[in-house]
Amino acid sequence: MWLRSWLGKASEPHILFPAIAVVLVGVVWIVTLSLNAIERVNAEEAAVASSRELTETYEAQILRSLREIDQALKIVKYAYEQVGEQNALLNLKDRALLPPDFLFIVSLSNAKGDSIASTRLASMKNVADRDYFYEARDTDTLIIGQPEKNTSSGEWRLHFSRRLLDHDGSFAGIVCISVDTAYFVSGYEASKLGAHGVLGLLGSDGVFRARRTGESIFSGEKADYAALVPNGVEENQSVLSTSTWDRVRRYISARPLYDFPFAVIVGLSEDEQLAETNARARQHLIWAGIASVLLIVFSAIMGRISWQLAQSRLRAAQEQIAHAERVEKLAYHDILTNLPNRSLFSKLLGQGIQQAHRYNKQLAVLFLDLDRFKHINDTLGHEAGDQLLQEVAKRLKLCLRDSDTVARLGGDEFVVMLPELVEEKYVVTVAQKILAATASPFTLLGQEFRITVSIGISTYPQDGQDEQTLTKNADIAMYQAKAEGKNNFQFYSEKLNANSLERLALESSLRHALDRNEFQLHYQAKRDINSSRITGMEALLRWNHPDLGVLAPMQFIPVAEETGLILAIGKWVLKTACLQNVAWQKLGLPRVNMAVNLTARQFADEHLLEDIALILNATGMDGELLEIEINESLLMLDVKKTLQVLSGLKAMGIKIAVDDFGTGYTSLATLKQFPLDTIKIDRSFIRGVTNNALDKGLTDAIITMGRALSLTLVAQGIETKDQADFLRQRACDEFQGFYFSMPVPADEFEVLLRANQQMASSEHRNAA
Ligand code: C2E
Ligand code: MG
Repeated sequence: MWLRSWLGKASEPHILFPAIAVVLVGVVWIVTLSLNAIERVNAEEAAVASSRELTETYEAQILRSLREIDQALKIVKYAYEQVGEQNALLNLKDRALLPPDFLFIVSLSNAKGDSIASTRLASMKNVADRDYFYEARDTDTLIIGQPEKNTSSGEWRLHFSRRLLDHDGSFAGIVCISVDTAYFVSGYEASKLGAHGVLGLLGSDGVFRARRTGESIFSGEKADYAALVPNGVEENQSVLSTSTWDRVRRYISARPLYDFPFAVIVGLSEDEQLAETNARARQHLIWAGIASVLLIVFSAIMGRISWQLAQSRLRAAQEQIAHAERVEKLAYHDILTNLPNRSLFSKLLGQGIQQAHRYNKQLAVLFLDLDRFKHINDTLGHEAGDQLLQEVAKRLKLCLRDSDTVARLGGDEFVVMLPELVEEKYVVTVAQKILAATASPFTLLGQEFRITVSIGISTYPQDGQDEQTLTKNADIAMYQAKAEGKNNFQFYSEKLNANSLERLALESSLRHALDRNEFQLHYQAKRDINSSRITGMEALLRWNHPDLGVLAPMQFIPVAEETGLILAIGKWVLKTACLQNVAWQKLGLPRVNMAVNLTARQFADEHLLEDIALILNATGMDGELLEIEINESLLMLDVKKTLQVLSGLKAMGIKIAVDDFGTGYTSLATLKQFPLDTIKIDRSFIRGVTNNALDKGLTDAIITMGRALSLTLVAQGIETKDQADFLRQRACDEFQGFYFSMPVPADEFEVLLRANQQMASSEHRNAA
């Protein structure tokens, strides 16, 4: 694991390339330095070998020269002692037995040291004080003197001597050969020894007889014989040391000459011998340096390129991930509100159920539907609708804990999951919070609007074991909340389920009701408050359901409204009512108003005016006799649009009545701007006018307001005489209620109309 992560890190280009570069630079330098070291060793070995070889050559040369010199001395001695030649030199010279006289001077001296003969007459002198003279007197061996400098020529010469004996064996003098010391170092080859090599003949007394470096020749200098010619050192050894006389480091080889008290010294300058190798080594270092720089630059470039490549790959991967996340987000979230969508909610609910099951906890699902949202959407447009949904989503989130989930299922439906419920009380608290949060006004398109919400609640495990059942049952409970007058919450119960199944059945049979001709209109009379004469009628829809019998509008209109079927049904109502009114007129019955109700959806329909015009045209109905009833709450949704529609209706001569007035708290000022004709006071006030002070007061206020606006005031829902009397006192204009007339089918209403006609004509007669 550790190794893998380490390898993973090491394979990253910004680490890998520098690492490779470091290794390669290391290799380059190891190879270079090793090569240099090997070459240096080779060069040193070559220098050592060369100095040894030169020493051997030099040794042979010197030995030959010394032997030749000694041989010549011996020949002269022989000639002197054996042959008795007093001056053997001339004779020997003629016989070419003497060394060449341009280099060697052979001379004879008597016992007093005076020269008696010489191959070079100019150099004849007394040598009694010379070392090679007095040392030779006592021995028969070869004597080699100290180098001697010729004061006039500045030349250094070396003298070799042997003693001469008379035939009686007494000392007769010496034979001496003197040689220019340069002769012994004439074998200096600059090509081999260089400018700073050394070739020398060192006496065992530590005095250089001759020493040459380049063209400079020295004689008579002292040196440390023991240091230069170490005892016991292998013969062929060459030692690197610094020469004491000129501080040059040299490979020195020395060989003692066994027959003579001399050693030959050959030295090769270290600098010169290793110059080529050092130059090559420097060259190698430069190349290694260049290679290192190139490697580092190359690795930096490669590292940079692959880093950029890796970065772009990383970016591409990140983009892919972001894209996948976006796709995932789109798949599982509602774009508008950013809340989880149906799929995600279903998953989360499934998980929540599992958790609740495992820990033996409860869970609640709250199904929310915004009341009247469709209306807002239809009247204010989708943009406002979207804005409202976003605001609702925000408020919902604020009502919930982080562990709770709120999702949008679509349209105006939201759903909330409260997981791991400890006590049911919390559900109620949340539901109340949601109701309160949605109750405060929303500002859409610069205007304030109020909406409410209906909430259905189901709980796990009582109301369902799986997510579909729980959601479906919460939905059913939500419909119940709507049926209960909206703006409330309801818990699911088995009974609700039965209702909901009924609703489903209702919806499907409603779709065929028009085709099957199952609708019918009932008409309820409106009467003048004083004369009790019929002033008009309200068309009220009935559905003759094949199984359920006659259904009142409140039982199916909400479904028709939701499904949109209300548009077709509404047109049928309008057409039927108009045809009926025209038919009664044709029968000679009085021309009275025909009121028709419109729901919010019908009112928002953009073809409304067009459809009404077509129906008036097709039925021959006079627009003046038609009255449209709209709910008070519709007025305020979109004032501009409402004004537009109402003006359109007015242009066709149609009257406008505000239905169920008093429930919407519309102000006088607002009411004033609409072209209204009638106010129908809501049944709920009328019910309490005789015994409830508040209802009485409100009814009075409504009447006063209606009067102020010169509107016709209709009190609807009068069921008792007391109510009728009270309203008569208050000078209401018209009545509508069971007390006077029930809603009845057309044929029965016809009877009422005829009675009304007769009543009118008898009144007329009486008056006449
Ligand atoms: P609404 O416009 O307020 O109609 C009057 C309702 O009050 C009618 O109920 C009527 O039967 C009832 N009513 C009249 N007098 C009394 C009374 O003294 N006491 C009581 N308790 N009720 C009385 P209905 O016919 O059930 O209609 C209910 C609502 O359905 C109507 O209320 C109206 O808003 C709607 N509606 C009825 N027909 C149509 C229709 O053809 N189209 C549309 N869009 N809505 C309709
Ligand atoms: Mg009505």
